[in-house]
Amino acid sequence: MKSHHLGIGMTSQRTRERLINRLQEEGIRSTVVLDAIRSTPRHIFVDEALASRAYEDTALPIGHGQTISQPYIVARMTEVLLSGGKLDKVLEVGTGSGYQAAILAQLVGQVYSVERIDALLKLARQRFMELGLRNIRLKHCDGKLGWPEYAPYDGIIVTAAPADVPTALLEQLAVGGRLIIPVGASGRNQTLLSITRTPDGYQQETLETVSFVPLLSGRDQAHF
Ligand code: SAH
Repeated sequence: MKSHHLGIGMTSQRTRERLINRLQEEGIRSTVVLDAIRSTPRHIFVDEALASRAYEDTALPIGHGQTISQPYIVARMTEVLLSGGKLDKVLEVGTGSGYQAAILAQLVGQVYSVERIDALLKLARQRFMELGLRNIRLKHCDGKLGWPEYAPYDGIIVTAAPADVPTALLEQLAVGGRLIIPVGASGRNQTLLSITRTPDGYQQETLETVSFVPLLSGRDQAHF
């Protein structure tokens, strides 16, 4: 991976190590997840003006009223997603900055990620190229509909909160696959769910209370 803003200290190895310690304190146990977070330069996923805060365990604005998720949440969702074993295909709904997708790309075979704001998608694509991440496929669409073309997925991660679990996402889950999704009205009282598809249905587990931006309908106008 290329290095950015070297020498200004805030992106130093020690700063990143502090974040890893914090995540461990918060209960993240997966070594592969912690290693992926350690080796991923989060500061290139935010505006340069916010780079000094990139290794704090906090969500940050990425424009268009959206946010890059808190590292703890990224770690937790990824850890739960991976706990069922090795994953070949994973779908992410809500590419945003691309940070979650970049973490996933280091841990699964192929990442498919969809985003409704075209400008964010273009920035994310540049970042993946810069980092040499080649196993992420992107699409500008309404993620409530999933991405049927490549279904079924071994895992689906949704990084914006709908009021209810979209049916299309349940349908695009492979048997044995897991859907990690925050559900609830926008604000603080959303619940993070882990839903596993079984041979004869779905098994739901409640993980914790979370706060995500809302999953909206439709997509913005593409600017070509
Ligand atoms: N995973 C992102 C988090 C971004 S915030 C990251 O690591 O940075 C959630 C994102 O979901 C926003 O970019 C928002 O535009 C997007 N989003 C909201 N509703 C959507 C929908 N219906 N389809 C696709 N993306 C959606």
